Amino acid sequence: MSTETRFRACPLCEAICGLELRFDDGVLQAIRGDKDDPFSRGHICPKGNAIIDLERDPDRLRQPLRRRGRDWETIGWDEALAEAGERLAAVQREHGEDAVGVYLGNPNVHHFGHIAYLPPLLRALRTRNRFSASSVDQWPHQLVNLLMYGHQWLLPIPDIDRTDYCLMLGANPVASNGSLMTAPGAEKRLKALAARGRLVVVDPRRNETAAIASEHLPIRPAGDVWFLLALLHEMAALSPPRVAHYGDRLDGLENALDAVRAFDTIDVEARCGIAAETVRRIAAELLAAPTAVVYGRMGVSTQRHGSLSQWLIQLINLFSGNLDRPGGALPNAPIVPVTGPGTPAGSRGRWHSRVRGLPELCGELPVAALVEEITTPGAGQIRALFTCAGNPVLSTPNGRALDAALGGLDFMVSVDPYLNETTRHAHLILPPASALTQYHYDVYFNAFAVRRVARLSVPLAERGADERGDWEILDGIGASHARATEKSWTPQSEPRELLAQWLKAGRSGIDLAALEAAPHGLDLGPLEPSLLGRLQTEDGRIQCAPPLMLDALSALSAEPPAAAGELRLIGRRHVRSNNSWMHNAPRLIKGKPRHHLLVHPDDLLAAGVDDGARARLRSAHGVIDVDVMASDEVGRGTVCLPHGFGHQRDGVRLAQAAQVVGASYNDLGDPSALDAPSGNAALNGLAVHLESIAAAG
Ligand code: SF4
Repeated sequence: MSTETRFRACPLCEAICGLELRFDDGVLQAIRGDKDDPFSRGHICPKGNAIIDLERDPDRLRQPLRRRGRDWETIGWDEALAEAGERLAAVQREHGEDAVGVYLGNPNVHHFGHIAYLPPLLRALRTRNRFSASSVDQWPHQLVNLLMYGHQWLLPIPDIDRTDYCLMLGANPVASNGSLMTAPGAEKRLKALAARGRLVVVDPRRNETAAIASEHLPIRPAGDVWFLLALLHEMAALSPPRVAHYGDRLDGLENALDAVRAFDTIDVEARCGIAAETVRRIAAELLAAPTAVVYGRMGVSTQRHGSLSQWLIQLINLFSGNLDRPGGALPNAPIVPVTGPGTPAGSRGRWHSRVRGLPELCGELPVAALVEEITTPGAGQIRALFTCAGNPVLSTPNGRALDAALGGLDFMVSVDPYLNETTRHAHLILPPASALTQYHYDVYFNAFAVRRVARLSVPLAERGADERGDWEILDGIGASHARATEKSWTPQSEPRELLAQWLKAGRSGIDLAALEAAPHGLDLGPLEPSLLGRLQTEDGRIQCAPPLMLDALSALSAEPPAAAGELRLIGRRHVRSNNSWMHNAPRLIKGKPRHHLLVHPDDLLAAGVDDGARARLRSAHGVIDVDVMASDEVGRGTVCLPHGFGHQRDGVRLAQAAQVVGASYNDLGDPSALDAPSGNAALNGLAVHLESIAAAG
């Protein structure tokens, strides 16, 4: 038997851990963390090991499928790609370019083949009906970066390896390994932070990160904006802004602070559940720390005031002098640039959604509007859909309605390795070959990393003759669409050559040969201040008081406090789960169930529901049955449910996932609940009602 050890970056999540993979006679047998990766240093989570399950999964599609009534037939690639392009073109010929919609899921950003080859295809399709998982995730970050710094990806990263004080809101890096903060082995890094300084976690749940923190401050769901307002208010009362080192590169700071000072009578405890004296103490601690950073993530972004909260976080880091400073928050400078000349800076409001008039952000519309754009008749109605690496039926609000709407499309083509809750509605499914057979470079996650690193992943195995890489599929659809529309199509170079061009354009001095000579990756050092020199605002200054934020702030003052006794829903992440798409891996679904609704024991009592019982959970928009679990991880008024469940639907071909019980969080989601400035869905803080099944009738 021949045994070979090969190395690559993990393709599954934003932590980009280095992996060591053992192949026996060419078959993947074992995976462990690559201890020589200078960034991840041997870290691996259970999902990394589950790559073996993905490779062997009998449900995984290897060749194109075409629907025949309720059945599927396997067809060849040439026929499949031709049909995909032709049918998309036919719908556009008859109904206009916007009649084709696009939905891109989160995994697209994990694959070079998608990052590099989707843009030309999207340009060729010329539809304004583009949607993605970004609008159920990080749009508030992109918008605030765009407004303040002039580019959606001028994203200050928390320097958690060097900071003395970290205030973290709505984030759980111990489970996620960082998000818009690539930090493999986050638990070790955060424990080191707590040992040398202070880690304060603000979250409605005492999550896995709060459990290792110096302090946990339980907050009312979606109360972050009030806490942050009060915090900046207190800081401004304690100290003048420490902004001398920004020179004349600040615009509007006093305007912003005046707007914050106008909230001088807010009862912060009534609004967010954290006492005013605690806020004062945190303000003093932040100012006293040699270096400090505030970081807010998914739980903050996916609420009604996600953009305001992210703006306030930037202002707090700036006010304390920790923006663009080691130990504070500072953008990475990756060797393949995602900012600067030739990169899309971002935009807002260049067009609006047809039905609700929601503004475009960075070339996309809010996915909360997708259902109505499919079901509302009229010019520009979506009649065909192209989905790529996404499962919006489980991942976007109003999932049940989307499930029904997809069934009414004239045509749907999905690039996806599974027949899942979304792709079961497709007419064609085009499954890409294993990521292990493809070239890969983490363009975005190197840009979000807490150190400057670079690592190339070369193909570790030959793909089968009947398989196609992601890039070949996307290129093939583009070519056939161009043929059908009689337009020209310029095939791009192959991934290796394309990456070499991008590296050259980045002018870092590191070329493909240097990356190929470093199979464990390169450590290029800690984050360095660079924001001021890279600002892309019109006047080259940081815009501290964007009018959109000031308007949102004045609207906030009219918002009534939450009603007493209300239950508010929040999500949760588990290290064995990756949104909706890892539930078919036996290694990940074993062990105790993780689908329960966590409820405070007193709230269970008040609802008349027994611990462990199945109960009914209602929002204004939907109803699901859930198994409840009494937990003091959440305070009174907070209930907590993971998303990505709800696999029991006809026609889904996921044998393992079918055994995973649990309802879909997004069947409760209200498509009208949005963070207004960005259009991001407000998934957290949804008002819900819990009752026993018997009481519900
Ligand atoms: S943390 Fe993410 S990148 Fe690291 S092994 Fe797990 S899934 Fe892979």
